[in-house]
Amino acid sequence: MKKINLLLMLSTIGVLSCTSDYEKAELTINTEDMTRIVKEFSSDDFRGRKPFTVGEEKAVDFLIKEYKRIGLEPANNGSYIQEVPMVEVTDIPNERMKIRFWNSAIELKYKDDFVAFSKQLVDKISIKNAPLVFAGYGIVAPEYNWNDYKDLDVKGKVVVVLVNDPGFGSEDKSFFKGNEMTYYGRWTYKYEEAARQGAKGILIIHENEPAGYPWSVVLSGALIPKLYLKAEDNYMSMCAMEGWLTLNAAKELFSMAGLQFEEIKEKAKTPGFKAISLKSRLSFEMMSQHRFAISKNVVGVLPGTTRADEVIIYSSHWDHLGVGTAINGDSIYNGAVDNGTSTAWMLEIAEAFTSLKKRPARTIMIFSPTSEEQGLLGSKYYAENPIYPLNKTVANINNDLLLPYGPYNDIMITGHGQSELDDYLAKYAPEYGRYILPDPNPHTGMYYRADHFSFARVGVPALFARGNCDSREFGKDWALKKEKDWLNNNYHKPADQYDPQTWNFEGIVEDAQIMFRLGYDLANSDYFPKWKEGSEFKEVRERYLKP
Ligand SMILES: [Zn+2]
Repeated sequence: MKKINLLLMLSTIGVLSCTSDYEKAELTINTEDMTRIVKEFSSDDFRGRKPFTVGEEKAVDFLIKEYKRIGLEPANNGSYIQEVPMVEVTDIPNERMKIRFWNSAIELKYKDDFVAFSKQLVDKISIKNAPLVFAGYGIVAPEYNWNDYKDLDVKGKVVVVLVNDPGFGSEDKSFFKGNEMTYYGRWTYKYEEAARQGAKGILIIHENEPAGYPWSVVLSGALIPKLYLKAEDNYMSMCAMEGWLTLNAAKELFSMAGLQFEEIKEKAKTPGFKAISLKSRLSFEMMSQHRFAISKNVVGVLPGTTRADEVIIYSSHWDHLGVGTAINGDSIYNGAVDNGTSTAWMLEIAEAFTSLKKRPARTIMIFSPTSEEQGLLGSKYYAENPIYPLNKTVANINNDLLLPYGPYNDIMITGHGQSELDDYLAKYAPEYGRYILPDPNPHTGMYYRADHFSFARVGVPALFARGNCDSREFGKDWALKKEKDWLNNNYHKPADQYDPQTWNFEGIVEDAQIMFRLGYDLANSDYFPKWKEGSEFKEVRERYLKP
């Protein structure tokens, strides 16, 4: 603790010695620029910015033009582009999934009862009479002494699992992380684990609360073609079928097997839970089409002066969902908040940095990854193919879903307590009239659902923080209602579009200023912020940083 205090003191002295340069730079962050950026970036002309469409070309061209205007240099061997090889898979599932019990059968209906897809690059997936087994949360976590697959052979079987982790709804912080979701609670983890166990397929039971989003979000994600990073083995090591069941379908399935869903669910939360046969067999077929293509990350830098090999990365994904199912006569998913406002936030921070007369010691990278919406693919690719070595990557500061509803008193940290970056923010917050607020909904696992996670999982301390819960003008209830309304009416819908009547960028300006301050201090320091005790990312970072 002593060490960091000393460093924070030193960095404060650094700020004081060039106050006017810093303050002038900070003033370049303004609502006019942000409005212009979001308006254009989320216009219908950009067709929802979907990878491999004309929308990608427009978005990438726009970003390069902005990077040049701001004065960023190309980051990747003279280019602003990092190519990301991917494969696009279109699943064409059968409308019915047949489940046979010893004396009866049911048919589940696509979209109403289940969704299914496959990562395996084959033309046809065929599952015939695969036994169904309920494997609790589908988690193997040695550090919590937990193994839902203990003594269970799932080869050739389809596992049915619960969403989230056993700590959901618990106040006990030592049981997983209590109500805060761990990575074990994420569907990506559950698919990976089922594949490691050799299961033929996996179906996750959807529930609004523990998932953190309604069935409509699962559905809209399932109906569009899926993107994956190109893989050597064409994903033949993954399950043949991945998917979700609605809660109602799951209840029916359990009751047909003579089991009571709620009762079994409670049992699955207790240590020593043993997987249960669902006394049924599943048959299902699905056709699949795939094509290989290359999408683009956009990367620019302001090179540092004396520690140019060390980098601080700001990020905000450029992609969104493209053109899709029309809602209220509108089929363009503009993605103005997701992720237009964060893009404006990032570009304005970049401009503040390039406006400095005295460039910082460390390099600042401005990073617009592709395909966040398809599973953080662009950032994952970067983390696996970094332009600057990871042990020289000081921090990642990412944003997603910045709400344009004016200034906030809070600065909400998602994944609060993970790294020392929280302490930097806590130090500046009062100067900006803000206070730190740990994300009040840690059970939704947001820390694992945006691009900073790609950096965290390879050990780079990553911060995801924004004003969200306490409007300076209208208070907490109002802010909560605005967020809720936005999630219900706009999130991943064509209605996520720029609205000159109701939008106010002042809060995003303040979010940009405080993150500029954090990056500025880090960029003039020689300190590498650490993960805190108890963070699941601490160990991998320490391995990298070993001399
Ligand atoms: Zn987003």
